[in-house]
Amino acid sequence: MAEAAFQKCINPDCGAQFDCGQAIFKCPACGELLDIRYDWDKIEVPGKLSEFAGRWGTRDNRLDFSGVWRFRELLNFCEDRHKVSIGEGQTILQQNNAVGEYVDMEAGRLHLQYEGLNPSGSFKDNGMTAAFSHAKMVGANASACASTGNTSASMALYAHSCGVKCTVFIGSGRIAFGKLSQAMDYGAQTIQILGDFDDCMRQVQDVCTQLGLYLLNSLNPFRLEGQKTIMYRIIEGLGWEVPDWIVVPGGNLGNSSAFGKAFFELKQLGLIDRIPRMAIINATGANTLTDLVNNKKLSWNEGKVDQRIIDDYYADLTARNYSPHTCASAIEISRPVNLKKCLRAIDICDGVVRAVTDEEIVDAKAIIGKHGLGCEPASAATIAGLRHLREEGVIGGDQHVACVLTGHLLKDPDRTVNYHKDKQGQFSNPPVEAPNDLEEILKLIR
Ligand SMILES: *Cc1c(COP(=O)(O)O)cnc(C)c1O
Ligand SMILES: [Zn+2]
Repeated sequence: MAEAAFQKCINPDCGAQFDCGQAIFKCPACGELLDIRYDWDKIEVPGKLSEFAGRWGTRDNRLDFSGVWRFRELLNFCEDRHKVSIGEGQTILQQNNAVGEYVDMEAGRLHLQYEGLNPSGSFKDNGMTAAFSHAKMVGANASACASTGNTSASMALYAHSCGVKCTVFIGSGRIAFGKLSQAMDYGAQTIQILGDFDDCMRQVQDVCTQLGLYLLNSLNPFRLEGQKTIMYRIIEGLGWEVPDWIVVPGGNLGNSSAFGKAFFELKQLGLIDRIPRMAIINATGANTLTDLVNNKKLSWNEGKVDQRIIDDYYADLTARNYSPHTCASAIEISRPVNLKKCLRAIDICDGVVRAVTDEEIVDAKAIIGKHGLGCEPASAATIAGLRHLREEGVIGGDQHVACVLTGHLLKDPDRTVNYHKDKQGQFSNPPVEAPNDLEEILKLIR
């Protein structure tokens, strides 16, 4: 029932609306971000969230199998025949007391939402399944994005699953070959531009306009609709109860934006009775959101965001020729595209923002790995951030907390190997050298 959904500019002074049959991604009237909105009266939404559990019994239906589309009434922007799925969202919410102890939580309170289990190894698949469904709906046959990370990997996988061509733009310079290996293996055409990521972004937009390619950039509001389902699965994993806190890493701020929207809608629909709080965790080397919110007091302000604060901040970054630096490459972003939507999410969820150092991130990552779920550095920022918030007393040890582990350990193996082999942190676990001799080996076993 596509007519129940429409696109709407998030700027309250504009509020322009467009149908979902267009691929525009930015308000043509004022340049702001677009939301997907629903006319809920035209959608048959279950009366209780637990009714979605019925779809576990009909998993031979490909849409009921998908951890995104089994919640399809809540992202009802296209017809079933357009929906693209490769079995995304088969993720687990793991209650983890050992990691909980590291952050000083009581037993039974810390949960890890492991999005590394997605087909391409990161949460991005939740968004791509939705965006490619939209791409099919508008009849796209070729797609492109600028990214050296998880977006390109996910995009390549989804594009080829539905017969869409796929081009990835990468800059020369800091190229994460670990993740790029996926884009190449999944058959994406990879174009390396003599320039940085910003140059790629500009080129890809012009190329898409000229050739009519479907652009899978971070502005795409349909991606965020798919990412809402991460929250539905957390609620499901908690027996259809909402946690007290969601903790998520902040990069381009798509996830945090999507999560805030998800909870706002669930509350509006009467499907939950309270909205959890949200903690968004930056790396100190890429802390635009933390700086803007905690120091410059930037806020959603009912949609009237103080653009001057943002403009001054970015002008200063430019003047200083600043580029962000963190080992958590997935959140190494200083001009987050979804900033304003994220401010709205902070408003909805009474959110807090913190930044953690690379040392804290890699130590937290080793703890998560040791206790059973390997993740990439950006994901571990959640546990490092939670540790801060526990120390500050912002989050109580008896509260129910769900941390989103956004990507799989094997996305960035170099980081892990260096941490352990070069003894970079307090939890380094390097291999022990032994002579080829049984007696000597026996002495080493602990
Ligand atoms: C993209 C990505 C992030 C950042 O998410 P945003 O929605 O851009 O804030 C964090 N972790 C991983 C593993 C990612 O791939
Ligand atoms: Zn507008």
